[in-house]
Amino acid sequence: MSRSIVPDLARRVVWFVTGSQGLYGEETLRQVAEQSRRIADELGASSDVPVTVVWRPVLTDTDAIRRMALEANADDDVVGVIAWMHTFSPAKMWIAGLDALRKPLLHLHTQANVELPWSEIDFDFMNLNQAAHGDREFGYIQARLGVARTTVVGHVSDPRVTARVGTWARAACGWAAVRSLKLARFGDNMRYVAVTEGDKTEAELRFGVSVNTWAVNELAEAVDGAADADVDALVAEYEELYDVVPELRAGGDRHESLRYGARIELGLRSFLEAGGFGAFTTTFEDLGALRQLPGLAVQRLMADGYGFGAEGDWKTAVLVRAAKVMGAGLPGGASLMEDYTYDLVPGDEKILGAHMLEVCPTLTTQRPRLEIHPLGIGGREDPVRLVFDADPGEGVVVALSDMRERFRLTANVVDVIPLPEPLPKLPVARAVWKPRPDFATSAAAWLTAVGAHHTVLSTAVGAAAFEDFAEMARTELLLIDEGTTLRGFRNEVRWNAAYYRLAQGL
Ligand code: MN
Repeated sequence: MSRSIVPDLARRVVWFVTGSQGLYGEETLRQVAEQSRRIADELGASSDVPVTVVWRPVLTDTDAIRRMALEANADDDVVGVIAWMHTFSPAKMWIAGLDALRKPLLHLHTQANVELPWSEIDFDFMNLNQAAHGDREFGYIQARLGVARTTVVGHVSDPRVTARVGTWARAACGWAAVRSLKLARFGDNMRYVAVTEGDKTEAELRFGVSVNTWAVNELAEAVDGAADADVDALVAEYEELYDVVPELRAGGDRHESLRYGARIELGLRSFLEAGGFGAFTTTFEDLGALRQLPGLAVQRLMADGYGFGAEGDWKTAVLVRAAKVMGAGLPGGASLMEDYTYDLVPGDEKILGAHMLEVCPTLTTQRPRLEIHPLGIGGREDPVRLVFDADPGEGVVVALSDMRERFRLTANVVDVIPLPEPLPKLPVARAVWKPRPDFATSAAAWLTAVGAHHTVLSTAVGAAAFEDFAEMARTELLLIDEGTTLRGFRNEVRWNAAYYRLAQGL
């Protein structure tokens, strides 16, 4: 039974708008409409583009453009707008509309035809196919107004173009989800930890996410209130889905611990559903009447699309939720992750990532094992948890940090690799990766920029989706990838500090 809160992206809408002007006359505008509708249809039909693309009537004057923007703002289903100037659309007509637009914008610089029909070209053809300069006029006004946008260049029949539009559309869906996200914190931050702190008021203004705290004993009450019949059914589901160790199975010595794990899942899920929450945090320092640190429950809720951060880390919980939505329907997954320990063999360095318990099983195609082990931290009963190895493949780790006067995203492209050797004694789910461009550059850059130990690891969407997301949020994103040099990165950090202070004014 699906309890997923990952939205169906096909129900999210992107408007395709085309700019022109009245001077062209009816015949040309009819062709503009017909050809732009074809391009919108082609984009919408591409399997790369997960959303519904809705063609809108050609815009030829200031007021229609402004009204389009206001309507897009008001429609919760609309996650973004794609704009194309097939012909020349004098851009002062776009000032009011672009100034009013609050939805993500993609400027598609394309044209109706791929090849020029050289022997046929007359001036009617030139008059109709003017994106080469129409879009430049539009580019100017976007730059002049400082409009946040993604620019994509090429014909829609080129798979690189549809892939790029699709990535932007996914980022727009993630952005819409964060704009309306309610996040519940059970307990506060882990005592004395700096990097997981942050300005929750600024976060609500910048990202739209509402972050508030609930007493953990309210959660404990919901856990205690779970019905025995529901616990029976959920335990049966666990036995079907996972390799449950004998001691946890019905009749096993520790079956009661598994039943309590199921009870936590039922209580947590009902609490989150009742409050309309899409993300949450826990902290092992404040468990109230809970008998186990939530492990299995958190893993399963993440797999259903909830954002999660441990030790009160609401910023990472926001990123996990965004990654869940952006990656909807793609192979791979997203999870809270923590850089835990290194293999420092020179030239072959690796990072072993894990957490105390809470790693999301969407990172694996293995059948997880459901186990119980002692946990020295937290001072409660032994918690149940899923244990598995993350699948190899390309991924990205992303952190969100509060830099006092603003937020910063830092991303590192990584290659998750197969476990070099089995880890028979490690009682938690894990991922092993090599960071790009190399371990020393990546780690030094990470320490220079952010130093967060918690991240979201996404293997479903890559860095480009987070770059688009950062643009929509008008938030700095520092990317560490195959092109990074430490000198260049250090300079970027310094220059960005000046830029973002200037760009946000007083
Ligand atoms: Mn942690």
